[in-house]
Amino acid sequence: MSPLPTPPDHASRLNRLAVISILVGLLVLALKLLAWWVSGSIALLSDGLESLVNVATAVTTLMALRYAARPVDHNHTYGHHKAELLSSALEGVLIVAAALLILHQALTGLRTPPELVAGPLGLGINIAASVLNAVWGCILLREGRRLLSPAIEADGHHLLSDVISSAGVLLGTAAAMATGWTILDPATAALVALHVLATGLRVLWSAGRELMDEAPPPETMEVLHRTIARTALGATEIHDLRARKAGRSVFAECHLVVPAGMTVDAAHRICDRIEAAIAGALPGCHLTIHVEPAESQPATSADGDSNLIRIVI
Ligand SMILES: [Zn+2]
Ligand SMILES: [Zn+2]
Repeated sequence: MSPLPTPPDHASRLNRLAVISILVGLLVLALKLLAWWVSGSIALLSDGLESLVNVATAVTTLMALRYAARPVDHNHTYGHHKAELLSSALEGVLIVAAALLILHQALTGLRTPPELVAGPLGLGINIAASVLNAVWGCILLREGRRLLSPAIEADGHHLLSDVISSAGVLLGTAAAMATGWTILDPATAALVALHVLATGLRVLWSAGRELMDEAPPPETMEVLHRTIARTALGATEIHDLRARKAGRSVFAECHLVVPAGMTVDAAHRICDRIEAAIAGALPGCHLTIHVEPAESQPATSADGDSNLIRIVI
């Protein structure tokens, strides 16, 4: 994992990305609506409506980033990390709404096929908008992963899924114009709607899982587990290791069993050693350790949850 940039630098980079996203979204929206206006194609209109969602989403992301980056305060004592997840969830809802809107337009068009103005102008404008989306989507995806921002990454995924559906739209519209079989146009729009619907549900699902305090991926749990086991020398057991993701942070806790006669000072030194190792191995991970004395019967932990990790040192 590459080292995290320092917080102010990190926040200003995410902010800049979100602001540029809004500008790119507005430009793409204008181009796609222009493409619809010169061609009369419902499929191209669907494509434009989808871009409207991008602008709303980019604004939401910017607000979430401004809020998520705020430091701990008296009524959010863990920070504001989940603002990013709320932004992703809202984005999912907006994408689903756009899909239903497109589906409605498509079904109307299937009953009354549209009058299409054949010609490369509408298609050309739409292609230009898609190229812009593809380039910006790739940048967002790369930067979102590098800066560990689920909101920016979700925006990147969203833009790239737009590019794929736009390519399908272009094929359908071009075929409708070339063959004069105009029903292909709303039929294409209906397919776009289903694709967009699936994207929206996926974004919603992933944000929902993290809002449900999902554990970090197995690789992260493995690093946590191994780092604690390696640095807990002097303790006899670790149990009830729990962890949850919140945006770019991981909150973890565990119980540390030490010999009953150990001084508080010695036990605290073990905790500090573990915490320092975790801070090095998993930047952004906050570990809290609860110390308890070993029972007279070793290897039985009265309070251990059998579903959670237990490590005998
Ligand atoms: Zn315990
Ligand atoms: Zn301490």
